Parts: sequence; C-alpha cells; structure tokens
Amino acid sequence: MNNELYLDANATSPVLPAAVAAATAAMETCFGNPSSSHAAGLRAKALLEATRAAARRVLGAPDGELVFTSGATEGIQAAVLSALCAVRERRRRGQACGNLLLVGATEHKAVPESLAHWNRLLGTDLELRMLPVDADGRHRLDVLRELAPRAAFVCTMAANNETGVVSDLDGIAAVLAQTASPALWMVDCVQALGKLPLALGDTRIDYAPFSGHKLYAPKGIGMLYVRAGAPYTPLMCGGGQEGGRRSGTENMAGIAALGAVLAALEEGGTFRTHAELLAYRDRLAAALREAFPGLVFNAPLDHALPTTLNFSVLGLGSKELLDLFDAAGVRVSAGSACSAARAAPSYVLDAMGVPEARSASAVRLSFGPLVEAAFIDSACERIRRCGRALAQARPAAALQQLEAAGASGWLLFDEAGSECIAIDPPAALAPRIAADLRAHACRLLAAIDTGHGAGGAEALCALLPPTPSTARQVRFGGHILDAIALGEDVLAQAGAAFLLGRPQGDSLAPDQVRFVFGLAPGHAALAAALCCHRSGEPALSRPGADPLPDDGIDLDAVSAAAFLHAHPDALLVDVRELPEHAAGAALLHGHQAHNVPLSQLAGQAAQWLRAPRPLVFICRSGKRSARAARTMRRLGHAQAWHVAGGLALAG
Ligand code: PLP
Repeated sequence: MNNELYLDANATSPVLPAAVAAATAAMETCFGNPSSSHAAGLRAKALLEATRAAARRVLGAPDGELVFTSGATEGIQAAVLSALCAVRERRRRGQACGNLLLVGATEHKAVPESLAHWNRLLGTDLELRMLPVDADGRHRLDVLRELAPRAAFVCTMAANNETGVVSDLDGIAAVLAQTASPALWMVDCVQALGKLPLALGDTRIDYAPFSGHKLYAPKGIGMLYVRAGAPYTPLMCGGGQEGGRRSGTENMAGIAALGAVLAALEEGGTFRTHAELLAYRDRLAAALREAFPGLVFNAPLDHALPTTLNFSVLGLGSKELLDLFDAAGVRVSAGSACSAARAAPSYVLDAMGVPEARSASAVRLSFGPLVEAAFIDSACERIRRCGRALAQARPAAALQQLEAAGASGWLLFDEAGSECIAIDPPAALAPRIAADLRAHACRLLAAIDTGHGAGGAEALCALLPPTPSTARQVRFGGHILDAIALGEDVLAQAGAAFLLGRPQGDSLAPDQVRFVFGLAPGHAALAAALCCHRSGEPALSRPGADPLPDDGIDLDAVSAAAFLHAHPDALLVDVRELPEHAAGAALLHGHQAHNVPLSQLAGQAAQWLRAPRPLVFICRSGKRSARAARTMRRLGHAQAWHVAGGLALAG
C-alpha cells in the first residue's frame, strides 16, 4: 500500500497530518461539549467558533449562516428542504414563486434524488426539469434564460466531480438577474473548495454545501452556507445546537480537523497554487497522451479544475484501464465513487453528448492540492509503464475468451498468430478486436455466431471483412463436415456446434477435438462422442460429473501463502490479463505468480487436468480468481483454490 499512488481525490482524500493532530487533540484534551457552560465546554465552544470564523474568511462569507453538517449530502437535504418549504409558504400566501425545480444535468445524484424525495414528501408537486449542458459540460444558458422566469429553485454545481468542468456561475447569476427569476439558487461547492477562488458573500447564491472529506478533513464533517435572508428550515431538531439550525451534539473532532484544513488554506504554503496544479495536470496529461495513442480527453482542459482529468482510450473499456492502472499501483476511477459499483455508463458524459463507445472507456484521474512534484513524477512514470505494458502484451494463446456485458465469445488463433477465427464476438468489442487484429497484421478468416453468444459477428465483419481460407471437409464419425483450416487445425461445423481439432488427413477423430463451441443441451449424442459438455471448455471434461460446490475454494492471503509453502508442487496462478501482469507482477508473501489470464484459461485447463497439481488462483479483487477456481473444479480438478480478496487485501 505504501507503493500506492492515489489519484482518486475527487472521491475522497487522506487526512492532512495537521487535521489528524487537531482531531486527536479535540478528542483527548479539548473534548468538552460546546453547549456546556463550564470551562471544558467553553474551550470546545471557542474551537467551534474559531473554525466557523475561519470558514467565513476562506469562503468569503462574512454574512449569512455557516452551519456545520455531517457532509454535503446533509447540506443538500437542508437546502432542498428549506427551498421547498419556502415555496410552499409563498404559494400559501399567494405569491408568485415559479413551478420548476431546475437541476443541472450533471449534478451529483444527491441533488436530483433529494429534490424528488422532498418534492414528493412535502407534496409541493413542482416539476423537476433537467437543465442541459453543452458538449463542454457547461450549463446551457439559453435554456436557463427560457426557463428561469418559471423556476422556483435552481441547482447547479461549482465544478463537476467526474469531469472537473467548472460552471459559469457568473453567467448563471446574470441570467437569473436579467430574467427577474423568483428562484432560490443552490450551488454545490464540494469540488471547488481549495481548488477555485470563492467569494460567496459577493454572489446571489442562497445555499452552498461543502464536504470535508474531499479536502483532507475526515469523512462525516461538512458545512452549509446559507445567504443572509434566505429561507431556512432545520432538517434536524432537538437540543437547538448551531443556533437551532442543526441540532445534535457537534462533531468536534471533525470540526477541529476541518479547522486545521481551513487554517492551512488561509495561511498558504501547505497547498499548491493554481498555477502549480495546472502545471502538474499538464504533465499528467502529456504522460497519458504518450502512453496511450488514441487517448481523448472528455472535458476541455481550459474549463476544468486543475486537478481533474477525464479521458478515454478508444477500444479499451473503463474496467480494463482501471485494472491496468491498479496493477501498476495507480488508483483511479471510472467516474464518481457513488456509481462505481454500478456498471451503468456515466450520466455526466451522456449529458455532454459523449458517444457511448467513448463513455464506456472513461477514466477519471484526480489529485488534491497537497500533491508534490515527486508524486507527479512517479505517477507519470507509472502511466508510461501502463502504456508500455499494454503495447507489449500480445495474447500468445491459441484461444482467447472475450467478455462484454455478460456475453462471452472466443478468438481462435493459428500457431503463428497470423490467422484468426472469431466465435460469438460481443458486438461491443468488435471495434477493439478489429483494431487489434489489424495492428498485428492478423487475418480474420471468419466470424461466426453460434446462436449462444452475443451475436456480434456481423458487426465485426462490417469493420474487418474476413479473408476466407480454403474451404475443407473432414470426416467425423460417420459424417462429412464442412470445415475451415486454421493453421494445422480445423474448425468443423457439426449442426449448430463447432469443433476445433487437428485432423489426420481428412479425418477428425473425437479424441483430437480440443474444444467445442455452441454445444446446446440437445446435442447429447455429439457431447457423448466428444466427452465434453460446454462451449469453450476443453474436450477433456467429463459429462455428468457432479459440479463441485462453490464453497471451499476460498483461502485468505495468509493461509494461501502457508499452503504454497507447505506444497512446493502447488502453482500460484495470476489470472489477471497480460497487460496487468506486465504492469505489476503478482507477489503473495514472496511467492511469485505464474500468469495465465482468465481469458486464456480454457487453453491451459486441459494441461492442468492431464497432470493435476494444486492450483491457487489470484487476481486483483478475488472475483476473477474465484471464477477460475470454480471452472477448474467443475472440470474435475479437485485441488483448485483462490485467494479471496485478491492482491488488494494481500499487501
Ligand atoms: N456533491 C459532489 C459534487 C460530490 O462530489 C459529492 C461526493 O461525492 C457530494 C456532493 C456528496 O458529498 P458527501 O460525501 O459529503 O455527502
């Protein structure tokens, strides 16, 4: 972990050492309750108010309220609740207040979700309308001009968490003023703190939420700025803390830590200047361009935070890039941390009209203003290493599995790697396969859909028209089958199934069939003849063999290492893809792993089944290694395990 380069600062940041010290002091010595009237309480109260005063100075907000919250999501709730209660009250009094909730199309999900929630709960029945953004990710001011007179509440952000795009807040303020909009205005300032100058008191912004953990304070502390005179309804009631605006005993450790960060911002010297950050970002951008030919940035750099780069490498999925960076110890993300668990494409890039192929490969790289030159040097070096790993790692295997969106397909190569047949290629991967084959001067002989795959053969053929090889026929059992020659092998069609094997003259014996594709359950006779039962699985697997239960395959890192130590014949197998292995080899407590990518497991499995030895699979997170262990057990290899939690937990 010490070797890890954390470039995901828009998701969260580590805690500033001075903030850790301040939080510790607040817990150990200045631990009083700021509502207590004795000296311990007064000391805590003084710390609380000193932090608030520092926040006012940093945010340029001498007036109005500054309420400490648990984070931005809470600040957003309080702002939304306040605005909607005000609309309800204005309506009751018969005042014009608009009927639209206008929300920027690229806002953090906390905003539209909160608007929909409170609008429903309060029965305000306002119309939730997205304010579109242009191709640069900036709000469409022409649309705002049209809608502003009817807007009750406008929600925009200062800077976007996925792309770093900085909003034209002056432009938005001018349109609201020119159209005499009755709207209240919230600006989510989470990504702006410490990266953009703020002077909230000089604006007409009514609500501005902030989050501590995005700028070196711990998770669980945030602030909400409320303009003087803006309506406010408390979200939390009880003991009347924060002047009744947010009840509940204050998070004094968090507030003290935030205070230390604010002090560092005020004093200067701790964080890099805007110009320094821009220079660092330019260096990272140059390293990325050099490492990945075909890389495109998804947001214009001149309108973006100096700490965020969102890019795509055409033909490579986000997941593949993330895995590659992770292998090199570089932590980046595919978008917002909140949506990382979902596979859906980025709604932020969608809103900007970024084509799907590009957004499917988007990666966000973000750093914080505490960054140092040596860190950027290492990051650039590792980015270049990733580029080299990708360029060098050419699949050497004769059989490569392809997977996209749950669909599986195969590439079969001849021994020289100069000819290829694609079986069930996923359509989403067609551009990538075509580019790869072209780059390596490999001829596509045929692309076949068996009816059991994703049906992308047509898409691949459109991009890379096949150059058919000489048609052949082989004898198999009592039948004559049409076949395509692939090096010394043939791919022969038996009904809807395809058999790959090495013929003797014109005859293909069942025991010479190494793989079968597109074999449906109805093909019992063929399966029996071949002694195999699943597409892409080696023909050696036994039909009817009871699949072993999935449990019992997990080893934790320590017991896996002990097992390897106790069983010198056991093999530690890294099932990450070739570029990941090339970017950073897998080591488990001194045991070096042998690389067999999951996509090439089928080609290797037959050999392991012929000469069984204990196998311990490992990968980045434990997902791919679990699949490898399960597959080997189902094929009849009883001694297959994997390292649960993968390399991520093994360090
Ligand atoms: N708004 C933006 C722009 C963010 O990036 C985030 C964090 O991901 C939030 C709001 C939510 O902040 P918090 O985690 O403090 O609730």
